[in-house]
Amino acid sequence: MTRNAQPKASHFINGRYVEDTDGDALTCIYPATGEEVARLHKGTPAIVEQALAAAQAAQAEWAAMTGTERGRILRRAADIIRERNRDLSELETLDTGKPLQETLVADATSGADALEYFGGIAASLGGEHIQLGGDWAYTIREPLGVCVGIGAWNYPTQIACWKAAPALACGNTMVFKPSEETPLCALKVAEILVEAGAPPGVFNVVQGAGEVGASLVGDERVAKVSLTGSVPTGRRVYAAAAEGMKHVTMELGGKSPMLVFEDADIDDAVSAAINGNFYSSGQICSNGTRVFVHKDVLEPFLSKMAERLKGAVMGDPLDEATNFGPMVSERQMQIVLGYIDKGKAEGARLISGGNRADRDGWFVEPTVFADVTDDMTIAREEIFGPVLSVLSFETEDEALKRANATPYGLSAGVFTKDLARAHRVAAGFRAGTCWINQYNLTPVEVPFGGVKMSGVGRENAKAAVEHYSQLKTVYVGMGPVEAPF
Ligand code: NDP
Repeated sequence: MTRNAQPKASHFINGRYVEDTDGDALTCIYPATGEEVARLHKGTPAIVEQALAAAQAAQAEWAAMTGTERGRILRRAADIIRERNRDLSELETLDTGKPLQETLVADATSGADALEYFGGIAASLGGEHIQLGGDWAYTIREPLGVCVGIGAWNYPTQIACWKAAPALACGNTMVFKPSEETPLCALKVAEILVEAGAPPGVFNVVQGAGEVGASLVGDERVAKVSLTGSVPTGRRVYAAAAEGMKHVTMELGGKSPMLVFEDADIDDAVSAAINGNFYSSGQICSNGTRVFVHKDVLEPFLSKMAERLKGAVMGDPLDEATNFGPMVSERQMQIVLGYIDKGKAEGARLISGGNRADRDGWFVEPTVFADVTDDMTIAREEIFGPVLSVLSFETEDEALKRANATPYGLSAGVFTKDLARAHRVAAGFRAGTCWINQYNLTPVEVPFGGVKMSGVGRENAKAAVEHYSQLKTVYVGMGPVEAPF
């Protein structure tokens, strides 16, 4: 990666990089080696103030532009991101530890997809006309104002773009706070938006931990908060936003089920379970971490899975031959190893992995447990690491009931060749996103989000527009005005 690709300072406010060395040090570590990649500073109250003031000052002018003009800027930003995909992917790999093999195709590129999609629909956003006899009404689709985006560490570029693209398309401005684990990539998104023509202040980035996020959420200038994070953080942020009656989007955690019926294509189901548990080393909210396999195909499923896991290549994530990277942080590695210990202690049968890898960095082996029961900790709690639990079942009703017996409801998948059963099961899932004979694909064209404790609101697709705009109704009286006296 060229040195130019590194962000030039900690924050990006009002169209330029900004530093404030009074902020506590924020060190960005390459998870594959433990080496320091960058040293930044957390946002001070003065930085938070600058960012909010810039976003507020820029909003009216941004909203006054036509949708075509705003959209053109977003689409130009998408083009720049694609042109620089390699540099941005290498930065994402340094920030997160995810293999370059993945980041080249899944991170900056999916961010560009979001900017292109919302850039494309910006010009066609609007209200409607409603005829009321002689009178009539119309609705105006208005932006909400200043939005705050708060990101998790697993997809720093994608999360920034998934929030910025619809927010900006609708005429809002944004202050984005990345996770303190992965501070670098959102700065590049901000830099590129300005290069593409976004006026200063439209998209700002402020670093910091939870308290910086909390100060943004609590500010009265903020109209909306979109968080990607865990359920406990979601609860706190939702409650704080409620104080100010702010709009929210909550993209939270999951413990999603994948059902594999006896008639399924087992190779496809194994591929999907690999993608849905080991991509990004398992650090994906929608992962299908409870794989329910029909008892008649359990042993073929497990033996094929064990065979396929031999293809996992651990190594330097910057080497494109590596297809399995480390955990984002030592802390996350310890959390995952703790869950693996619980799986062993509670009687699950270890099929593969189960240990920290014998190498530098925070690598955990891809781990598969069989004979997992619904009450085991590894079947109930979100692990956010490469730990796949296989549970067996006998009937469709039983599998669906057990799949839904969780406080979460982010995603679910079903593998079967029986068309009627596939749709019946999808209808029965209590989850925001379901896949039939596929898993974990989340293109920008389709809505994404959870039910139950997994969150509220939807990202992506036309649905996201509803969460970044509001309708004003204008009733037009054509006269005369009638009155009782
Ligand atoms: P956290 O909930 O710990 O943090 C999420 C973000 O919120 C971080 O930027 C964090 O700051 C910030 N934050 C923490 N406390 C507050 C607060 N009181 N007010 C405002 N902001 C706050 O999640 P992780 O970063 O650990 O990410 C993992 C979680 O994210 C998993 O549960 C996963 O399922 C979920 N997730 C959900 C996705 C979805 O779309 N549904 C996608 C990806 C992840 P900091 O980290 O700097 O302390």
